[in-house]
Amino acid sequence: MLEDTQPHAEQGHAGCGAPPPATQQRFNLVLINPYELGRQPFALAQASAWLKRAGCAVRCLDLALQKLEPAIVAEADAIAIYLGMHTATRIALEALPRIRQLAPQAALAAFGLYASMNESLLRDLGVSAFFGGESEPDLVEWTNALRTGKGSVMQQVAMVRRDKIDFLTPDRTDLPPLTRYAHLVLPDGATRVAGFVDSTRGCKHLCRHCPVVPVYEGKFRVVPVEVVLADIAQQIEAGAQHISFGDHDFFNGPTHALNVVRTLHERWPHLTYDATIKIQHLINHAALLPELKRTGCLFIIAAVESVDDRVLDYLAKHHTRADFYRATVLVHAAGIALAPTWVAFHPWSTLDSYLDLLTSMVELRLVEAVPPVQLSIRLLVPAGSKLLELPGFDALIGPFDPKLLGYPWRNPDARVDALQREIQRYVAEADKNNTPRRATFEHVWRLVHAALGKSAPSLARDLGQPIPHMSEPWYCCAEPTEAQLESF
Ligand code: SF4
Repeated sequence: MLEDTQPHAEQGHAGCGAPPPATQQRFNLVLINPYELGRQPFALAQASAWLKRAGCAVRCLDLALQKLEPAIVAEADAIAIYLGMHTATRIALEALPRIRQLAPQAALAAFGLYASMNESLLRDLGVSAFFGGESEPDLVEWTNALRTGKGSVMQQVAMVRRDKIDFLTPDRTDLPPLTRYAHLVLPDGATRVAGFVDSTRGCKHLCRHCPVVPVYEGKFRVVPVEVVLADIAQQIEAGAQHISFGDHDFFNGPTHALNVVRTLHERWPHLTYDATIKIQHLINHAALLPELKRTGCLFIIAAVESVDDRVLDYLAKHHTRADFYRATVLVHAAGIALAPTWVAFHPWSTLDSYLDLLTSMVELRLVEAVPPVQLSIRLLVPAGSKLLELPGFDALIGPFDPKLLGYPWRNPDARVDALQREIQRYVAEADKNNTPRRATFEHVWRLVHAALGKSAPSLARDLGQPIPHMSEPWYCCAEPTEAQLESF
């Protein structure tokens, strides 16, 4: 997996996290998180624990909240940037020349879902090591090779380790305090400090549009219950009143999930949480939903993506429109709120299908449950996307665009792209102005009817109740904002 010439014994030494001999000088490593949806990043905290155990002096910089501190970067012997999502990678590409300028001596690595996938782009900017998933042992091995001068430290590329790694309690001590990250907003406007925990990594599903799939290829890894609970405990100590599980799908391992939330509830009966669960799992494990409610689950995010069965088939989501309707009823019956996410615009969208998407939100009374940014999301086709294997898909896209970090596409109906741009502009403005979700939806409702040359029927008074949600409005595939680019 690693193209490394280090002798086998050396690899074992590094992989177990042991530091090199004490005669080695202090080795300064900087871990950088460009962006992670307003969450305190588990990936940096886990890597930090491994690298500190291996003897590195680790500094973390979270560009979501901190500047690229010249004094910290300039002292680095090595810098590893976490690329967990598209937005983060866009920010990293902009930041790398500045990082290079501040620390010309430092070796650079990238890790996370988007690292190996964008190897050649990152290599052009001076990055020499790329670790896709479960990257902590590889990061340790890389830094030990740098420190000892043994083994090749260039040309390292890994997707995901086949073997399981021993998770440590994440080290969050060098990250900004939880109170500065996204918080929970309750329907009455009250807020709670949120902690962010991963209880699994990867995913056992193979949805074609998903960036997890090219790296994990249907595998997922379980973080041991005691590690998850120790991480929750330290975040409660730091002020967390609510936990947001960052697992790609919380029910990839339902027994594990139940073990976590039952113990969590026993220890901290007032703690609430949210999780992301796919529609198929909500139906297959519907009997578990009341237990989630009992243990403090406030809301479930579900990547529904579309209500068009043909498109759901293209995306290999393994659910139908009818399944989405059924899952909504099941989740609501358990007393839990459901927050669907959409891929609202794609090459197969029509004005009618977009109106149908909005209509489903009205029918299911989910208008208040969907962050308005979701109404504008365009399909992202990143490097390595499994959509590229869909017969006929290549005819819908242009050549890979390094600026976009993806394959550009246009809808065959120019009116659809024009509508998407208008909605994107409007929801960004509405978000800035704190426009209520219902008012934003009503405006979008009118826009699509106008595009269809129809007058918009007035909407029912009851479009659903506001639900608890996180304060961070951006979706992982959004382009960086100007404020995000200002961090360096
Ligand atoms: S979209 Fe969700 S369920 Fe599908 S592969 Fe990605 S993480 Fe897994």
